[in-house]
Amino acid sequence: MTHPCLSCGACCASFRVDFSAHEAQELDGSVPDGLAMEVNDSLRRMRGTDHVPPRCAALTGRLGERVACGIYEWRPSPCREFEAGSDACNRARQRHGLAALEGGPY
Ligand code: SF4
Ligand code: SF4
Repeated sequence: MTHPCLSCGACCASFRVDFSAHEAQELDGSVPDGLAMEVNDSLRRMRGTDHVPPRCAALTGRLGERVACGIYEWRPSPCREFEAGSDACNRARQRHGLAALEGGPY
């Protein structure tokens, strides 16, 4: 079975993704500066995640069909910690008309 995230992407187009400035490339972190915007001295945000509707600038592909994170290895901690099959995951999926995931872990 292929991983459900590969045909989803709903969380990357539902929530603001804020993370510590220390994770940004400019401060020797991994998240590319071009994809992050400054919120304040200590906080950065993935570009596009505060748009209406939100969609992270790093997300490629077609939501609900086939997607990928363009910076998967360098993505910020909220993305690393987000769990497929969690309540938040299923809220995002519902928002985009996708069926809830049951069970897991994925
Ligand atoms: S974590 Fe959930 S909402 Fe995010 S891509 Fe995976 S299945 Fe979709
Ligand atoms: S950085 Fe990648 S995993 Fe995180 S919201 Fe953007 S596309 Fe999704």
